[in-house]
Order: sequence, then structure tokens, then C-alpha cells
Amino acid sequence: MVLCVGQACNFKCRNCGNFAPYSPRSALRYSIKSMEESLDILFSNGCKIANFQVQGGEPFAYSELSTLLKYLGGKKQDGKIRQIVIATNGSIMPSDEIFVLCKRHDIEIRISDYNIAHEKAEEIDKKCAEFGLKHIFYAFSSLQGQWYDLGGTDIKRESDDEVVKRRFKLCDFRGCLTLEDGRLSYCSRAINSQFAQGFTGRDGDYLIISKRPSFRNDLRLYLANRHFMEACRYCNGTDHTDMIPPAVQIGMER
Ligand code: SF4
Repeated sequence: MVLCVGQACNFKCRNCGNFAPYSPRSALRYSIKSMEESLDILFSNGCKIANFQVQGGEPFAYSELSTLLKYLGGKKQDGKIRQIVIATNGSIMPSDEIFVLCKRHDIEIRISDYNIAHEKAEEIDKKCAEFGLKHIFYAFSSLQGQWYDLGGTDIKRESDDEVVKRRFKLCDFRGCLTLEDGRLSYCSRAINSQFAQGFTGRDGDYLIISKRPSFRNDLRLYLANRHFMEACRYCNGTDHTDMIPPAVQIGMER
């Protein structure tokens, strides 16, 4: 599961799959309280999370990250979460407190180096080593990886259900269960894309986390019956043909 702490990011990537640069102000930052409440509801309904990834936007730009890590570390100790990872663009050096918390709770840091802040990414990598943390360094800068071209804000709606069904079935991100702003989605792009692309999600595309008595059953059904979302009509998916250079900046100011 991915937890999005907010879409605020110091990078403005033209092809950001999650449309972070086009996010409405309300999506830039989510409160600690709302994230903890959503997670508490999931845990109280029997959820255990094997792989938990904290992402943004840029999580190291999130001012209450230490509070969140303390909460998540506690859940890990309670056996509710097995592994925690923070995914960063490697451009913001976190405080020593964050490194200490990562060490205490065995949290891994995944650094994507897009050659925009290469020296900083290397500094973070070095600091992870100094603190004895698990860490991975993705050198996008030396063409170790590319991005899928999922499509921009102007992509046309695909109306053929069979095409969209197949797109979803083959998509690498369909298993990327994401919690964002009190909603669960099958994919991290799907929640924010409706704001950026101006469409309305269908009933059943997202599961709203709430304390309603039927929630446990709704959750079970939602996880068991994965289906394509309205967002998939406005997306290229990942058919491995449209690869693009990562993190090309559009220089938008926010
Ligand atoms: S095809 Fe659907 S599941 Fe895949 S990235 Fe696009 S919106 Fe997400």
C-alpha cells in the first residue's frame, strides 16, 4: 500500500504519473490526523499491510513526517505493518531525527536520482549508509530507468470498455493500492487524475474510509473485485511501448 502524504513537490515533472504539478491546493498536504484516522480504521477492520510505502509529492517536504514515522513505527511494532519504505526524489536532505526514526523502525529509503539534484541525492545516500539504513539508489540519471508515458491532462477519453478493461488488466500499477485523502484506490494516479483531467470518478472506483458498520464488508468486496476505473479511460496504462525520459521539468511555479 502507498500512503500519499500530499501532492506538494519541489519538482515539477512534466509527465508526473500522479499529476502532482496540477494538483488542487486541497491535495497538496493531508493532515496527520486524517491519515492516522484512516489507517486506524483499516487496522481495526483486520488489515495487515505487508509493504507500506510513504510517498508524495515529495515526502521529505512534508513537515510532519517525523510524527507520521513514529505512528507507523508503532504499528510495525504491533505487527500491523511488515515493511516501511519512503520514496524520495533525492533532492531534500531530511533532518537527523528522520534518519534516527528510520533506523529505530527499520524503515528503508528509496532514492530516485533524476540528475536534477544529483549531489544532494548522493549526500542522502551517504547519510543513509552512515546511519546504517536500508537504502536503494535508482540512478535514473545514468539511464538506469525510464518512465511510462501514462498521458497528460489533455488525453482523450477512451469509451470502448474492452480496450479499457485490457489496459487495466495489463497495467503494472493496478496493484498499487493507494490511500490518499481518506480514500482507497487501486492505483496512485487514479485519485488525483480526476482533478487534473476534470472528470468524475464512478461509484466503486474508490473506497471511502469511514466508521460505517458495513465498512469491513465493503473493504472485502472492494479488494476482491478489482475493476478498471474511470481514470483508466484517461490513461495510456503501461503497455511497455511508450517509454519517456524521467522527470523532465516544466518549471511551473506554485
Ligand atoms: S491504466 Fe488505470 S490502473 Fe493503470 S496507471 Fe492508468 S489509471 Fe492507474
